[in-house]
Amino acid sequence: MMCTPMKRCFVFIWLCISSCLLCDNEKFVDKEMIIQIGDPILRKSARALSHDEILSPDIQNLIERMKATMRAAPGVGLAATQIGRSVQLAVIEDIDHRHLNAQQLADRNRYPVPFHVIINPHIYIEEGSHTIEFFEGCLSIPAFLGVVPRAESVRVECLNERAEPVVIQAKGWYARILQHEIDHLNGTLYIDRTILPTLMTEESYVKLWQGKSVQEIQASLIFNDS
Ligand SMILES: [Zn+2]
Repeated sequence: MMCTPMKRCFVFIWLCISSCLLCDNEKFVDKEMIIQIGDPILRKSARALSHDEILSPDIQNLIERMKATMRAAPGVGLAATQIGRSVQLAVIEDIDHRHLNAQQLADRNRYPVPFHVIINPHIYIEEGSHTIEFFEGCLSIPAFLGVVPRAESVRVECLNERAEPVVIQAKGWYARILQHEIDHLNGTLYIDRTILPTLMTEESYVKLWQGKSVQEIQASLIFNDS
């Protein structure tokens, strides 16, 4: 996916956004094509990985290719299913926020998340967690956006790339990324959870809604005929 100057001005709401400036760091690693909606692999539950598999050259190489692919896209998360491997593994990184102002960062509760790997994740919604509605996009469904309700706070129990157990506590945008990527590993796409009247093209978003709040956009798109 190309990251054009035009795109960079409006995809601040895009879940899968990072920075093209990161692309050059990975030029010696093969990148993968990102599988697009319609391919059945995106709808299958991925299988768990064993300890030995995680440490194998095959999976370690897969992690490096996924890192390069995510950064080149650019994105903040990528599931193995999106590059054709039906295994419970995703990579996440959300560190470049130069396209967001302080208010936008606060609205999303978005904070820097360094590169890491989640394997065989189990996700739990924290007690008392609110539901937050915000726009999401997906590298496997290009050029569309939609409002998705997500839990504000989650806990994830998983393994890292060394097959060590890890517990992640996440809030805000990071919690949203985790929910989006773990959904991928279970065959669920964000459009399955989108408030459907809010599904739109990026072009429509820029033309009609840029700068407006999610609440305002929903009020303009959702009509009750009763
Ligand atoms: Zn996605």
